[in-house]
Amino acid sequence: MIVDGLTGRQLAPRNVATTSVWLHYRGLVVLGLAFLGNAFCAACPLMLVRGPSRVLKRWLGREWRWPAALRSKGLVIVLMLAFFLAYEVFSLWSSPWLTAWLVIGYFGAALAVDVCFPPGTFCKHVCPLGNFNFALSHTSPAQISTVDGEVCERCRHKPCLHGRVSDAESRRGSWEARGLPVEGARRAAFVPLSEVERPNGAGSFPGCETDLFVPTMTSNMDCTLCLNCVRSCPFDNVALRLRAPWRESLVGAWRRRGMLGVSVLALVLLWAGVMNAFAMVPPFFVVADGLASALGTRQEWLVLGLLFVLVIGLGSLLTLGAFALGSLAGGVREGPAALLRRWGSVAMVLAVGFWTAHYLFHLLTGALTIVPVFQHFFEYRGFAVDTNWRLAQLVPTRWLFFVGAALASLYGLMAMVMAAARALRDFGAERGVLAMWPVGLFALAVTVLQVLVLAQPMEMRGTLLGPVP
Ligand code: SF4
Ligand code: SF4
Repeated sequence: MIVDGLTGRQLAPRNVATTSVWLHYRGLVVLGLAFLGNAFCAACPLMLVRGPSRVLKRWLGREWRWPAALRSKGLVIVLMLAFFLAYEVFSLWSSPWLTAWLVIGYFGAALAVDVCFPPGTFCKHVCPLGNFNFALSHTSPAQISTVDGEVCERCRHKPCLHGRVSDAESRRGSWEARGLPVEGARRAAFVPLSEVERPNGAGSFPGCETDLFVPTMTSNMDCTLCLNCVRSCPFDNVALRLRAPWRESLVGAWRRRGMLGVSVLALVLLWAGVMNAFAMVPPFFVVADGLASALGTRQEWLVLGLLFVLVIGLGSLLTLGAFALGSLAGGVREGPAALLRRWGSVAMVLAVGFWTAHYLFHLLTGALTIVPVFQHFFEYRGFAVDTNWRLAQLVPTRWLFFVGAALASLYGLMAMVMAAARALRDFGAERGVLAMWPVGLFALAVTVLQVLVLAQPMEMRGTLLGPVP
């Protein structure tokens, strides 16, 4: 990506950087999330900075604690919004050079945070991509969990969380020799090999870097599927288990993971998803031109910024309004925070559905281009390769709308069921029957809106505003 982005042909559909990042990566991420879980984080290329960061950390000689004020999802939400806006303003999808620099910047940021703070800080508190994946794994059909709860009750040291060292040798030196953080070594439990039922080898095993304690996990939030917990559990008591995709929403799963922050993230992802897709269809250009004329400006960033604020701001207010009506029908008057805690899952399911439909649309339109784009990479550099540009679309064009609409509708239906289940759980059979309607109808209206956006011809990105008269 980086080599072709910086030195290859600056033609987006023919460059590895732009096609693999904006077409293949995003499509494969949502497929992985829908059918398994957070597969991208499990194989995250940013882990490549772990080696250099350990060296630099040793050289630095100290590690800071991540500031308490930044431990919610607030920073992630700000970075995510900045990324979505930058994507439109700088037309990142059409610039191999900028895409390559984005990748380099991402590696640089991961390295800087990893050097100064404990491992896992970047994934949990900074990375917009990782948090996007955490959020969308809300409806994934698998989750890390324990095999037998009683074994955990007897487990004294909880190595899945704290890590473990299994012999005196590793206690003394091998942690540092492997470049693992000294902080981790301090809190890791010493469990002699003789007491370990399933050792997974000898030595040091870090625990969960995003501070998840497996026996109490009720959601996929913050889980990178790194499997540290599997390796460090001395009793082989951790598994990736199948679950119903709607289970996480029904059990109130975000209780332990900063529930309010995650619910705000759901709201932002829902309306940023609508904005992201809307910016690709013809009505958007009419609206943008109208707004630009009304303001008397030709500044693209200003018009885009205002449209972002309008769509995400108004959408969030409408969502809160529907949630408030639901709670009122259930007999309680609540503030925004309580509304989000109660109904936030409904917004998240709607967001998951639309992002999945949108990204899958792009993947289906050009999945096979990965072959000619790589062929072209070598041809461009003088190798005798015959690039076959006829490979592109995965399914006939007439299928695209139906695949996207079916997906958005399926998740819309799931959101309606979620609204009903929440209402009946929180307000009982009598009031719950009333409370489910405002939120259920809101979910239906958002689904119709999403399908209408998907029904528009997806515009090839060009100049946002027409020529100056
Ligand atoms: S999952 Fe394993 S390490 Fe964690 S508490 Fe249970 S038995 Fe102990
Ligand atoms: S250690 Fe286990 S629970 Fe923690 S992030 Fe890795 S896979 Fe998820």
